Amino acid sequence: MRLFSATIATETNTFSPLPTSLDAYKESVFLRPGEHPTDAPRMCTAPLFVARQRAADEGFTLIEGSCFAASPAGTTNRADYEFMRDEILAQLKAALPLDGVLFGLHGAMVAHGYDDVEGDVLERARAIVGPDCVIGVELDPHCHLTIKRVQLADITILYKEFPHTDVVERAEDLLTLVLRTIRRQVRPATSLYDCRQIGSYPTTLPLMRAFVDKTAAMEGKNGVLSVSIGHCFPYADVPELTGRILVITDDDKAKADRLASEIGQEFIALRGRTAPDYMAADDGISAALAFNGSPVVMADPADNAGGGAPTDNTTILRRLMERKVDGAVLGPIWDPIAVRLCFDAGLGAGFPLRFGGKIGPASGQPVDAHVTVTALKRDCWQSFGPTQVPLGDCAAIKIGGVEVVLISNRTQALGLELFRNLGIEPTDRKLVVVKSTNHFMAAFGPVAQKVIYVDSDGPLSRDYRKIPYSKVERPIWPLDEHTSPGLIL
Ligand SMILES: [Zn+2]
Repeated sequence: MRLFSATIATETNTFSPLPTSLDAYKESVFLRPGEHPTDAPRMCTAPLFVARQRAADEGFTLIEGSCFAASPAGTTNRADYEFMRDEILAQLKAALPLDGVLFGLHGAMVAHGYDDVEGDVLERARAIVGPDCVIGVELDPHCHLTIKRVQLADITILYKEFPHTDVVERAEDLLTLVLRTIRRQVRPATSLYDCRQIGSYPTTLPLMRAFVDKTAAMEGKNGVLSVSIGHCFPYADVPELTGRILVITDDDKAKADRLASEIGQEFIALRGRTAPDYMAADDGISAALAFNGSPVVMADPADNAGGGAPTDNTTILRRLMERKVDGAVLGPIWDPIAVRLCFDAGLGAGFPLRFGGKIGPASGQPVDAHVTVTALKRDCWQSFGPTQVPLGDCAAIKIGGVEVVLISNRTQALGLELFRNLGIEPTDRKLVVVKSTNHFMAAFGPVAQKVIYVDSDGPLSRDYRKIPYSKVERPIWPLDEHTSPGLIL
């Protein structure tokens, strides 16, 4: 038995002023066969990682293809996408004959000329491997679950958790189902239900927690092979942006239809009740300062690199400085030039630094301040579940009672190392401000005495009605009050 695995992945915010080129992939994940690390998967490479570990026991040969993944940002350069795609497809062709293919994709990648990158990759891959080869795909729930890609794959599985702490577990599920399909132990029948809604669904809040637990418990019995909840990725102008439910049963299409419809209708009933309450930035700071206990962790989802934001918005920082808050730390602010200037100034130096506020109107104005460089470290990383996310060279600066972590590789706040790399112990601070929507909860939730979500003036507005969509199919909630959800596959 022969299996092939590869990755091409990013989450594209088509409204972002930061284009994504090959350099962005090289900064994050750019691994050719033979270069894949053995310690942990990188971003979307879990299918390859898991398959490698199980190949000997399960009696198959794994042919490892290239893995490319970039941090979320703007649309990927067309020539660069085609270069990466064609490299993987050439490897796929060279690996024939194949019984199975495992793709670790994100699912919300857009390249110039390609609104549905994953559909394009799968269409070309299917043409190479033929109809009998079993294709399995792992996706992020913040994906566009297009009809095309679901039809082209035999098995599609999304992570269940947000924060995405189950990337490896879902890759295990995917490999198991692909192997069982190859061995003719199961025959996947897939149904897709379109909920016609845009929303945010952290699984750390009670309603989604219960919904995910309930649907996960359906798997593995009564012929139900897999249930996936597609959240959608709101910051992309593509036709099939919407929340969808995907159910796979063992050779029982009618049951898959019924279950996808039932779960879909339940998901629709959760509209407007799944996201946390967001405070205004100043109110959030006041609430944090008034709270008796520390640390308070305050999230700034509107400037989350994980949604393609530049991560250099200065509004909250400016208010902390203006209000002379003591014992606050904020991170990250992406500003490689400011990091370079801090290294030039040297550890312990005090100097006038301009930082942040550079990339677009939603970045706000840069901060000009006399800063003290309190820590410098090259090639830092932070952990996110079992994966390591590079931060590049980092600097910590202090302005009055406020410390700021500046990073060179644009990413959101995920692990405590973001601060600890630079000698800052977040649990010792009164207020920890993190740029992240909800992934920060995996590491910061357990140490926080209180968590506050604020809606700053960063680019990722929490009000989807303010996003200037032109291609998204209508009607869709909350842009439209009346929608027509239904089974589409
Ligand atoms: Zn996601």
